[in-house]
Amino acid sequence: MEDHARTLKKLALKATPKRLAILDILSRETIYLSPEEVWTRLKERFSAIGLPTVYRNLEEMARGGIIFKVIHPDRKLYYFYCSNSAHHHHFVCTACRKVDDLTICAFEEIQKEVSENLNGTVTSHIMQVFGKCGQCLSESKVER
Ligand SMILES: [Zn+2]
Ligand SMILES: [Zn+2]
Ligand SMILES: [Zn+2]
Repeated sequence: MEDHARTLKKLALKATPKRLAILDILSRETIYLSPEEVWTRLKERFSAIGLPTVYRNLEEMARGGIIFKVIHPDRKLYYFYCSNSAHHHHFVCTACRKVDDLTICAFEEIQKEVSENLNGTVTSHIMQVFGKCGQCLSESKVER
């Protein structure tokens, strides 16, 4: 079990019971959740909690980098937890919502192109890869 209180502290975010509960919910999942789904589970512990509070806490923790936001093609909001603090990107399965870490980042090649061909420099980059995971692929093969 990871020490979420310590992680929050390191990010200068107060370790409130609600934030800890949200992290607990997300870190038990290997899939991404919508704010509404997090809210439904939170209501078991905080019966009076409102959806705007859930949105705000998710957003604050995503800004701090303790949870991640899915830049989903359906343009809805989703969040997931990843304990890997090293620079990396994610592979998101749009069929079963599973999120996996990717070990490669093409950033150096892009930086090279930007500096050599455009005389510029890259200051940040965002990348998320969407597709179907191995399990979903093999399951859809069985159906055929
Ligand atoms: Zn899948
Ligand atoms: Zn990750
Ligand atoms: Zn990268």
